Amino acid sequence: MINAQKLRQEFPILEQVVNDEALVYLDNAATTQKPEAVLQTLENYYRKENANVHRGVHTLAQRATQKYETAREKVCQFIHAEKTEEILFTKGTTASLNWIARSFGDRFVQAGDEIVISYMEHHSNIVAWQQLAKRKKAVLKYIPLTKKGFLDMEEAKKQITNKTAVVAITHASNVLGVLNPIAELTNLAHLHQAIMVVDGAQAVPHMPVNVKELDVDFYAFSGHKMCGPTGIGVLYGKQEWLEQMEPVEFGGEMINFVHLYESTWADLPWKFEAGTPNIAGGIGLGEAIDYLDKIGLVEIFQHEKELVSYVLPKLQAIEGLTVYGPQDPYEHTGVIAFNLDDLHPHDVATALDMQGVATRAGHHCAQPLLQYLGVAATVRASFYLYNTKEDADRLVEAVKETKEFFKYGTF
Ligand code: PMP
Repeated sequence: MINAQKLRQEFPILEQVVNDEALVYLDNAATTQKPEAVLQTLENYYRKENANVHRGVHTLAQRATQKYETAREKVCQFIHAEKTEEILFTKGTTASLNWIARSFGDRFVQAGDEIVISYMEHHSNIVAWQQLAKRKKAVLKYIPLTKKGFLDMEEAKKQITNKTAVVAITHASNVLGVLNPIAELTNLAHLHQAIMVVDGAQAVPHMPVNVKELDVDFYAFSGHKMCGPTGIGVLYGKQEWLEQMEPVEFGGEMINFVHLYESTWADLPWKFEAGTPNIAGGIGLGEAIDYLDKIGLVEIFQHEKELVSYVLPKLQAIEGLTVYGPQDPYEHTGVIAFNLDDLHPHDVATALDMQGVATRAGHHCAQPLLQYLGVAATVRASFYLYNTKEDADRLVEAVKETKEFFKYGTF
C-alpha cells in the first residue's frame, strides 16, 4: 500500500503555500509534479554529463549516449515491448499521434478508407486524424458513448468494418474517468485488418500497461504526466510497421548515408529521430520510470481507486454538484470532472484556487466530448500517487465553501 503522506515529501513543489493555504495539487491529468530523484537527475545531467549523443567518441558523449539509450531500454521494459527498435522518443503524446497519422497514414490510408475514433478523444487524437482524412479523402467516424459515459461497444462493433483502416482510441479518458477495453477493440480492429492506435497519455502513468499483451500496433504517451520532464514522450510501434514507414522529419541523426540527391535512413529507432534529441528529457523519463517502478503501478492504481472511492461519494453528496462519467467509484479513475449548480467552472476553479486547491477548468482539449455532454466546460480534479485523503477532504470542503461564497458572497 502507498504511504502518500511519506511519498509527497519527495516532491518539493508540494510543500508550499498558495493564497495563504497549503497547496493541494489536483491537476495531475494536465501534468504531474517531479520527485527529488528526477530533479537531481536533470541537474546532474546538465552539471556533469551534458554532451551530444550518438556521434561523439569522447567520454562525456559516450556517457550521455549510454544514459539516453538506457532510458529507452527502461521505457521498453516498462510497457513490456519486445525490443528497443519499437520505442521512439518524441516530444509527447501529441507528437506521437501526429507521427502515426502522418507516416502510417500517408503510406497506408487510401481514399474512402475509414478512420474510427470516439467522442471521448483528446484533441490530439482527433485533429491529426481530421487532417489525414482531408489529405486522403478518407472518412472519419466517431464511436458514441453509453449513458453512463463508457464507450458503446455495441456501436464499436458496427462502426469497425472491412472499410476501417485505423482505429484510434484513448486508453483512459482525461475527462470522464473511464478506461476503455483496448484488448477487445484491438481484436475488433485486427479482425478487419485495421491497425489499433492507442492514446495512452492518461493510462501509462496510472496502471500497468503491456503493449504486447494488448497487441496494439501503436501506443503513445507523455513523460510529463508520469513524474518525468516536459518535452519528452514515447511512440511505441510494432517493428513490422515502423520498418515500412517513412520518417516524418529529416536531417541529422536519422540518416545512414547522404548523397547529393538521395539519402538512406538509419536503423530503427533512430530513423525517426531527426536532430539532437531531448537528451536530458529522455534520461529524466528513465529516472521517472525507475521511481514509478519502485512504488509499483498496481499500488498506484489501487491508491487512486481508494482515493476516488473516498472522495466521489462526498462530492456527489453536495447538492447541485454534477459529476460527469460513471457515478460508481469502482468504475471511475482518478479523474473527476464536475460542475457546481449553474456556476461557471472558471469561477469555481478560481474560488478553489483561492483556498489553495489547484484544479482545472475548461474544455480539457475535448470539445467534441463536451458538446456531446451538452456543457461548455467543467471543473476537473485529478489525483495521483502523492495525493492523500486530506487532499480529498480539502477539495470537498473548498467546493462547499465555494457554494456558500457564491450564495452569500463571503468565505
Ligand atoms: N491525450 C490525452 C488523453 C491527454 O490527456 C493529453 C494531455 N492533456 C494528451 C493526449 C496530449 O498530451 P501532450 O500535451 O503531452 O502531448
